Amino acid sequence: MPTALTHAVLGAGAAAVFALRMRRVKPCTVLGLGAIAGASPDIDFVSFITGIPYEHALGHRGITHSVAATVAVAALIAAVVHARSRTHRVDRPFRPIGRDAVWLWAGLTVAGVVHALADMLTDGGLGIAIFAPFSWKRYFLPVTPIPVSPLWLSAETARVIGWEVLHLWPPAAAAIAIVFILRRRCETGH
Ligand SMILES: [Zn+2]
Repeated sequence: MPTALTHAVLGAGAAAVFALRMRRVKPCTVLGLGAIAGASPDIDFVSFITGIPYEHALGHRGITHSVAATVAVAALIAAVVHARSRTHRVDRPFRPIGRDAVWLWAGLTVAGVVHALADMLTDGGLGIAIFAPFSWKRYFLPVTPIPVSPLWLSAETARVIGWEVLHLWPPAAAAIAIVFILRRRCETGH
């Protein structure tokens, strides 16, 4: 896997694009939630601590990396944000986010799918059970140029992060920068 930090950056970049379709949800909120959605599949890291085998459904790169799980997690987060926006409090005006919730769900889903695709481009570990629970077969993409990150912090981790910053962060950073520029222009009318 790329490091969790890079998964968060990629998730933020992917979700940011969808912020262009949102009116009430702030881009910074989308970025933060995109980072969470992008890194969340690796919650299965606890399987290494609990002793669940790698190839198990609940093992690393199993069900949490599937499109189905990604759709569900994104829907849950979007539903919570939507519910919070409808909660009237004296110190917070009633501002339901409406259709933004659908775009947020879509953006967070893409952030999670980007995680799975990035893992499928790595040169180590087992493949990704991307179609679980309908198929437990694990997949890689035909090319695997991304160096797999060590499971535990080490000198190799620093080298891998350096590679990721150079090769994977620029497109995410560019997407985020473009979204902020366009949203700013929309809001200022220029
Ligand atoms: Zn992963």
